Amino acid sequence: MLNMEEKYEPLKELGSGNFGVARLVRDKKTKQLFAVKYIERGTKIDEKVQREIINHRSLRHPNIVLFREVMLTPTHLAIVMEYAAGGELFERMCTAGRFSEDEARYFFQQLISGVSYCHSMEICHRDLKLENTLLDGNATPRLKICDFGYSKSGILHSKPHSTVGTPAYIAPEVLSRKEYDGKIADVWSCGVTLYVMLVGAYPFEDPEDPRDFRKTIARIVSVQYSIPDYVHISSSCRLLLSQIFVANPSKVVFSQLV
Ligand code: ADP
Repeated sequence: MLNMEEKYEPLKELGSGNFGVARLVRDKKTKQLFAVKYIERGTKIDEKVQREIINHRSLRHPNIVLFREVMLTPTHLAIVMEYAAGGELFERMCTAGRFSEDEARYFFQQLISGVSYCHSMEICHRDLKLENTLLDGNATPRLKICDFGYSKSGILHSKPHSTVGTPAYIAPEVLSRKEYDGKIADVWSCGVTLYVMLVGAYPFEDPEDPRDFRKTIARIVSVQYSIPDYVHISSSCRLLLSQIFVANPSKVVFSQLV
């Protein structure tokens, strides 16, 4: 069997995260491009990395970055996956300022399609956000969900109870420190993603004090958000947001959203 160096030619660095670096590589034989996430061997390879690999490798959907293989180098664990050449949806949104409802719908439908598939496989993502949605290189870009580092399987793993994710995207029940339904919490994060695409700002941040997490959390718990007057959003889209941003969700049903 070929090792990492024999099989892939490194091309450039794509960026770095908490875990280590991501690189663009080329399969020497097929010339196909891939993204590789490198995680240092040793204590960094923990239960979370294990879950990421087990969950990600079981998923196969056009709106999810395709997992290819995992390899060991003398120093690192390398997760080889589909390369999303269009970069983060977050960057595209920042360049645009915000999206029109038509553009937001285009991406949101794909996001929901990928998330709905994960849920059908009993996997919740738990860190859905614009930074974890990449785009492929096509002129009409296809959205690709990535980073399954916080994901949990309803079959293999315990029920979610810890507060994980990214503050601006966290659902109220995740803050409660009790057991929660990871799928329903994902739906909340999808709602935040939709709002951010439409408004170009986070729904639960205090506009006067956006960096104050305590204020953000208080607003999340009391479901306090508003849509600025200068943003045009249709009444059906407002209704959709209000059906997602519910403090005590008994059941948020996907069929209502797609
Ligand atoms: P983190 O989420 O901790 O920042 P990521 O796993 O997202 O780390 O990877 C770091 C960088 O590499 C990010 O800028 C991300 O956009 C990029 N990246 C990750 N996976 C891919 C991929 N499959 N295709 C293209 N770029 C990727």
